[in-house]
Amino acid sequence: MSSEDVECSSKTKRLHFLLIPLMEQGHMIPMVDLARLLAAHDILVTFATTPVNLNRIRPIIDQAAASSLPIRFVELRFPVVDVGLPEGCESVDLLPSMELILPFLNALSLLRDPLEAYLRIPDKVGWPKPACLISDNLHHWTVDVARSLNIPRLIFHGPSCFFLLCDLLINRHRAELEAAVAAASDGFTMLRGLPHPIRVSKHEVITLLPSDPDKSKFMETIRVAEESADGVLVNSFIELEPWYFERYREEKSKPVWPVGPLSLYQEDLDVKAARGKASSIDNKILFQWLDRQEVGSVVLVSFGSFIRNTMAQRIELGHGLEASGRPFIWVVKEVVDKQVPGAEEWITDFEKRVEGRGMIIRGWAPQAVILGHVAVGGFVTHCGWNSTLEALATGVVMATWPHFYDQFLNERFVVEVLKSGVAFGIVEPTNLGVENGNEVEVKVKREDVKRVVENLMGGGEAGEERRRRARELGEQARTAMEEGGSSWKGLQDVINYVSEHQRKYQGANISS
Ligand code: UDP
Repeated sequence: MSSEDVECSSKTKRLHFLLIPLMEQGHMIPMVDLARLLAAHDILVTFATTPVNLNRIRPIIDQAAASSLPIRFVELRFPVVDVGLPEGCESVDLLPSMELILPFLNALSLLRDPLEAYLRIPDKVGWPKPACLISDNLHHWTVDVARSLNIPRLIFHGPSCFFLLCDLLINRHRAELEAAVAAASDGFTMLRGLPHPIRVSKHEVITLLPSDPDKSKFMETIRVAEESADGVLVNSFIELEPWYFERYREEKSKPVWPVGPLSLYQEDLDVKAARGKASSIDNKILFQWLDRQEVGSVVLVSFGSFIRNTMAQRIELGHGLEASGRPFIWVVKEVVDKQVPGAEEWITDFEKRVEGRGMIIRGWAPQAVILGHVAVGGFVTHCGWNSTLEALATGVVMATWPHFYDQFLNERFVVEVLKSGVAFGIVEPTNLGVENGNEVEVKVKREDVKRVVENLMGGGEAGEERRRRARELGEQARTAMEEGGSSWKGLQDVINYVSEHQRKYQGANISS
């Protein structure tokens, strides 16, 4: 047997996972981490997504190749123009308006044909057929692909079990909750059936549940696809939300595996800095600046991948940060991707005023790396789950500024359940102002920014207690991902589950 034959036959004995992420940074980034983590566990991984998304993660692809990680990045053509979306709109943050989210989601099933065409091509280097498919839960069409391959379909859930359970309860008690929020003078009602007193607002009850019939139809398709999944991977860890994990498992009656925080997997700083997209700042300059700051003194301000605040809101935020007297890094995307008159001039002027104490990143920041630096002590966040978990994983306290959807429940989880954050006190969802042409909306005034940041970074005994909780959670997160930890075991259980399935259906999925 030639050495190539030996290599080939050893590959056919290995498990092969097919990963299909949603094209949205908050879903794509953890799936890329998952692909790398699986490959590090000697799993062959095919990661299938669209050209624009592959381009964004080019540094990660190159690094995976350089370190011989067994990951194949496969390009699936996404014919967005055919469904009326602008050319190149292959990720949620690239949509010119959130009005286009439904056409975007409906178009996802167009990925099925190119994926199946790819899977029909005989493998040249001897990789076996996939033994399982891990799909973002919004890719409902992958049910049929997994069925035709006769392999388990596992779904990857972006949010926490806390959110998934709240969402499930809200769906179940919709009529009752709608009546309760309508009758309440403050527009809130309690969500029953949880061990913590969690309030939900009209926004959560109404907008988490789609009222528009097309959206409802899409969500119903997702629900049915989710029911048929063989198991669920959650980017969270047991110690963070033990009750919620257990309860969610009972509800699902199928395996629910913790695999996070996935952001902790990658220790190579250059690779980690390129998560999602190439960074807009030179890492050397960033680190030199961070290294000059005192431990735990810096506040990071960032609102995720697609939120764009109004010009008026940015001005309030800037003045508040300036008045807080704290060193900060502020990630400002708006000036890069939307040419609002005066925006760049204002930020340049502001940058000069705060020189030495404040750093502005225009565009994409290496967020997980910044959060992991010892100088960073606080995070002003929109409460997207990835950002929240990245802060929890690095023991950083949060000032919570939710904008919409799951972010309000994530805020409650951080502030009321974990007690490691302070809220700005926002109750109404934010219009995604810039894109709606609404340039005046201000949710948080400068004096409130100053007050909350001072409380976050100081805050007396209560502040100390929050920081102690955050550090404790950070340690638990790291332990969960280390060999023998709960999320490490979770991933082993996923691999064992797939391996067992393959053994039962011996031969059926081994290389053709
Ligand atoms: N992110 C980043 N740099 C940025 C903005 C975002 O690395 O400048 C990453 C962030 O670390 C997180 C993801 O993008 O992993 C955003 O996901 P999240 O769920 O927090 O928010 P979303 O973008 O989905 O609203």
